[in-house]
Amino acid sequence: MKLVFKKTEGLTDRPFHYCPGCTHGIIHRLIGEVLEELDLIDQTIGIAPVGCAGFCENYFACDMIGAAHGRAVAVATGAKRARPDRVVFTYQGDGDGAAIGLAETISAAARGEKITSIFVNNAIYGMTGGQMAPTTLVGQRTSTSPYGRDSGQMGFPLDMPKLLNQVDGAAYVASVSVDTPQEIMKAKKAIKKAFQVQLDGLGYSFVSILSTCPTNWGVTPVEALSWLQEKMKPYFTLGELKVPQDDITVDRDSAQNREEKNTVRIPNASNEKEEEGGDE
Ligand code: SF4
Ligand code: MG
Repeated sequence: MKLVFKKTEGLTDRPFHYCPGCTHGIIHRLIGEVLEELDLIDQTIGIAPVGCAGFCENYFACDMIGAAHGRAVAVATGAKRARPDRVVFTYQGDGDGAAIGLAETISAAARGEKITSIFVNNAIYGMTGGQMAPTTLVGQRTSTSPYGRDSGQMGFPLDMPKLLNQVDGAAYVASVSVDTPQEIMKAKKAIKKAFQVQLDGLGYSFVSILSTCPTNWGVTPVEALSWLQEKMKPYFTLGELKVPQDDITVDRDSAQNREEKNTVRIPNASNEKEEEGGDE
């Protein structure tokens, strides 16, 4: 019998706790597949956030560390600096990454930390009861904006990829979605590229992923996908906003190739002699 689909080795066998129709599960699968395809499961450290994805440490098959709320990028910075031989990524929601963790995210990007952030934007605080998040759309009803977000009083949504695109140390910034099979494939490609940028030592990589929260949006899973398409996609910038100037290839050999290509040759004594001799 021909095998057409196999659960990735990048995920454990524990069943997800996410609500029906929540797209966190799809994003987990994509990360697991990328870790497996790049042969990184045994050399990766993931940083789990606080929020709905707080239990993701049970699902990814790599080493995981749980961080305090908003501190995932700071913990990732420490992990990467202590173990530069490891691939380090954070998995964070919009409450974690764009509210309490905003300073960490921007500062790590500015420092060009060689880590990867997967940022899941569902325009709301999920686990704590559906409060307004920095990413909540104008007019969107939440438990703390029951009449809809009023921009005069509550301001405007933060478009994180657009913001990080301005930061020099950010080497790769992409904004994707997981609402259709085509978008899911694009999202996987972006996640893979982000890890590759880290492997190539090029700087901070950030992938924002538009995701659903049918529970707190108060809609069915199918309606949630429509809501994401009709409301979120027109507002948030989508696509690859920033790519390193060099071509990024998505195979494991390229890190070594790049290292060889970029090696600055310092002449040793015998080289210098030869050069001097050549001048004579
Ligand atoms: Fe997903 Fe929302 Fe449920 Fe959290 S509350 S698991 S984000 S659907
Ligand atoms: Mg959220």
